[in-house]
Parts: sequence; structure tokens; C-alpha cells
Amino acid sequence: MWGHSLNSPEIEHLIHLMARLPGLGPRSARRAALTLLKKRDTLLEPLAKAMSDAAAAIRTCPDCGNLDTQTPCAICADQRRDASIICVVADVADLWALDRSGAYRGLYHVLGGTLSALDGIGPDDLNLTRLIERVTDKTVNEVILALGATVAGQATAHYLAERLERPDLQISGLAHGVPVGGELDYLDDGTLSAAMTARRPV
Ligand SMILES: [Zn+2]
Repeated sequence: MWGHSLNSPEIEHLIHLMARLPGLGPRSARRAALTLLKKRDTLLEPLAKAMSDAAAAIRTCPDCGNLDTQTPCAICADQRRDASIICVVADVADLWALDRSGAYRGLYHVLGGTLSALDGIGPDDLNLTRLIERVTDKTVNEVILALGATVAGQATAHYLAERLERPDLQISGLAHGVPVGGELDYLDDGTLSAAMTARRPV
């Protein structure tokens, strides 16, 4: 796949792994790996240590699916948050984006993807069982489906609205203004805040 190379297997392995990162193709992975190797003291070794520390310390929150060093995560454990609202997102990146915007002070639930027949992602592949358990708790009175405006996001929102239905539960979607096909992580804080504030029942 990488063709003939004069590089050592260690370097090729590093490049190969880096090329799997989002946004890095083979060419930019090669350039990034070379930068790391040239900046051994200031970049390569600190990065290797940061990665190793993260791998050892970071866990998936058993309640919401967030990534943190503590379980439950800092968000689930924060008593100042409004535990009556759960905002459902596809990915941890969306949770981070929403929380950064400061527009929302409830709890979250990370699905780990969206339903997609095309990619073979069905309900069993998502973090759904725990969400249904959480929503069964009567202290939860609103679920916000913040799954983006993509076809998969909308299909997932529709599916969840049916699965979670309960007479006294408000199910909301983010207001329009979220660009079609837009992923939450790419939206600026103002747009996110507006979409959250103007959320509507689904
Ligand atoms: Zn959590």
C-alpha cells in the first residue's frame, strides 16, 4: 500500500497510523511524522507521553458516553446541571461543541453515530439501551435530539422520537438555522446557542 520505502519499519508504522487520523492523508501523515521525528524533545516525546497518559486514564462514561478521566464524567457528576433535560448527540465532538457554546446546562447522551442503512449502522450499533434506561427515569422531562440536519441525523431523530415516546416527556429538535448537512462541531457558538434556545417539539 505504501510502495517501496527506504524508511525503517518504525517510521512507516508511525506514518501508517497517522494517516488514519481524520484530515490526514498519506502525504500529510508523512509530513506530520517527519515533523515529529525532527522535533523529538519538544514534540515527539511529549506527544507520546500525552497519548499514553490519555490511553491509560480516559474512559467512556457509562451513563452518557462522554470521554473523561472520571466515571461518571464531570458533566454527569455536576450537581448544578439540570438533570431533567438530556440532549442526545451523535458524537463526543458534538457534546464538546454544544457545551463550549454555553447555551445548554442539562445533561447529554452520546449515541456514537447515526442510523445509516448505507453504512450498515442499525439501532444495535448505537448507545441506545442506556438512553432508554435514562429516559425511563421520571426526573427526565425533556429530550433534545441534536443530531444534525443530515439524512442520517433526521432518520435517527425520527426513530428516537418513536422509541422514547412517553406521555409526559417533551421531545425537542434543534431549531432550523443549523445548516443542512452541517455537523454541530463545525457550527459557531452563536449559531449553536440560537438553535438550542429556539428548539421546538418534534
Ligand atoms: Zn457522563
